[in-house]
Amino acid sequence: MEKVVIIGSGCAGWTAALYTARADLKPLVLTGKQPGGLLTTTSVVENFPGFPEGVDGYELMTRMQKQAERFGARASFGLVEAVDFSKKPFHLTVDGEKVEAETVIIATGASHKHLEVPGEDLLETKGGTYCATCDGALPVFRNQPLVVVGGGDSACEEALYLTRFGSVVHLVHRRDSLRASKIMQERVHMHTKIQPVWDSAVTEILDVKQDKVTGVKLKNLKTGAESVLPCAGVFIAIGHGPNTDIFKGQVEMDANGFIVPKEGTMTNVPGVFVAGDCADHVYRQAITAAGAGCAAAIDAERYLSAENQ
Ligand code: NAP
Repeated sequence: MEKVVIIGSGCAGWTAALYTARADLKPLVLTGKQPGGLLTTTSVVENFPGFPEGVDGYELMTRMQKQAERFGARASFGLVEAVDFSKKPFHLTVDGEKVEAETVIIATGASHKHLEVPGEDLLETKGGTYCATCDGALPVFRNQPLVVVGGGDSACEEALYLTRFGSVVHLVHRRDSLRASKIMQERVHMHTKIQPVWDSAVTEILDVKQDKVTGVKLKNLKTGAESVLPCAGVFIAIGHGPNTDIFKGQVEMDANGFIVPKEGTMTNVPGVFVAGDCADHVYRQAITAAGAGCAAAIDAERYLSAENQ
């Protein structure tokens, strides 16, 4: 019987592990299929406090893991296939094996939605990215034309942020009006550096042969006309999907599948806590996920103390 099982090994998961390990709860961290989470796919993280020169995303996550393990956290490279939170102890099926837990911290994160066009996977981190805050300031994007894809608040936010670095920011959207909030729309429309490209879909990211982004192929969805828009970077901001499928029917979620905490970080199931991007569609930063992981660990520890009194 585990006292604390943490599902997910991103910033939220490893921070929860650090705190529960230091509380002598010997947490078991189930890493999932992407150990270290989304941050391991980013090159330099420049906005995590304490690293004035920036830190490689993979290195940051490795350090978090080492720090938690130093105090007794245990990592298992398992994928959780199913959970049963209907009775205690909670049951998890991990690679076919049963795990029982007194408390569970869900920290499964979110995945960027992909365009699923040629070039997208091969040019990720080579000019193709899903995070302007993480990558926008890289030298390769400075004073270069940039493309943002999407029409929601995220795309607008990314486009506005990128105006600091790019020579021009083309906001490519598949319709002729933005989905974003009014205030974001106004900011985008007012900004002279942002040029909307309406009714257009990116059909390919160029240029795999050169092993870097040089432009995007566009298709006008109204006229069918095809064109190439040169750029040094493509920032894809078409939404995020929380990694919460296995928890459907087990804990309360919103319409988009984000888990809804009820009291602090505790879900509607007492003893099941949540932290990080699987419960957060607003901030989605490494540092906010780490903070939430800390809070979930403290909540889990207090819950266990109260239960065992
Ligand atoms: P979103 O609101 O779901 O917008 C996604 C955008 O991407 C939409 O414009 C959508 O087009 C487009 N899109 C989706 N799939 C696409 C595809 N396959 N190809 C091309 N375009 C595609 O997602 P979000 O912008 O990440 O925002 C998520 C939530 O967080 C929202 O509630 C938002 O308000 C909130 N948020 C708020 C702020 C803020 O207030 N500052 C910042 C970021 C996010 P359609 O419009 O045609 O559907």
